[in-house]
Amino acid sequence: MLKKDHPYQVLGIDISSYKKDEFFYLIEQKLTGDGLPEPPLFVVTVNPEIVVQSIIDNEFRKILARSSINTADGIGIRWAVKFLYGKEVERITGSDSMETICRICAQQSQPVFLYGAMPGVVQKAADNLKEKIPNLSVSGTYSPDRIDVPFEELPADTQYYMSCASVIFVALGAPGQEKWIHENLKKLPNCKLIIGVGGSFDFIAGSAKRAPDWLCRSGLEWMYRLIREPSRWRRMIKLPLFALNVLLLKSSSKTKSDKKKSTPVQQDLAD
Ligand code: UDP
Repeated sequence: MLKKDHPYQVLGIDISSYKKDEFFYLIEQKLTGDGLPEPPLFVVTVNPEIVVQSIIDNEFRKILARSSINTADGIGIRWAVKFLYGKEVERITGSDSMETICRICAQQSQPVFLYGAMPGVVQKAADNLKEKIPNLSVSGTYSPDRIDVPFEELPADTQYYMSCASVIFVALGAPGQEKWIHENLKKLPNCKLIIGVGGSFDFIAGSAKRAPDWLCRSGLEWMYRLIREPSRWRRMIKLPLFALNVLLLKSSSKTKSDKKKSTPVQQDLAD
């Protein structure tokens, strides 16, 4: 039996309360069609940069309000949920999820499609996944030359192979990948799950190195990526902005609840 999601709002964005095993169980159910028919699952793995982007980009904000599940990708989101609601959420990242989702697809003989990243990278990522998961069927891969190519302008064979896939991984970086998904999902009738996975193809292909586990656990993965790719500094400015907004939200809700006295914090923040 599937537990109903009770998301936590972080600066207006719903963050799923599903634990990892519940998330993957939901995906399994979706792929078998057990009680979860239309529409397809659209998963966004949310980090603080995405939340800040959604504040300044109205279109992106609306897309995040319509996606099926927004997981907590990034220590910043976990911190915010703990700080605002006193609750723990599990981190579910694109990179960690891809392999597990591919294993579920292999067990159920459901094909996957990899869309995005550089041409050599996406093909290498598919080859590495097939080597690790022998029964995995990859219906195709494609690296678009721009971020906003509509489905109908893709090469005919790419359109065909993408249409055959049950699961589509989109690696174009946020917010471009979520906007692409939002625009094109209705043109993919066989798709049961679509997820934006950021730089995951680079990690799986081995063209970018993921931070060691102990750094990920200590919440310093962002620093590792910044040292390896200093050009990310511009994006990192969003991290203190995110923290500041969360602190301000908490203090404004505290002022409100001091006035109301009896209102519980979670209820107040959710208002
Ligand atoms: N990317 C792309 N086309 C673009 C911009 C980005 O294919 O116009 C790819 C890029 O090659 C990388 C992925 O999108 O594989 C996003 O990486 P990023 O590091 O931005 O994602 P993050 O993991 O930070 O979300």
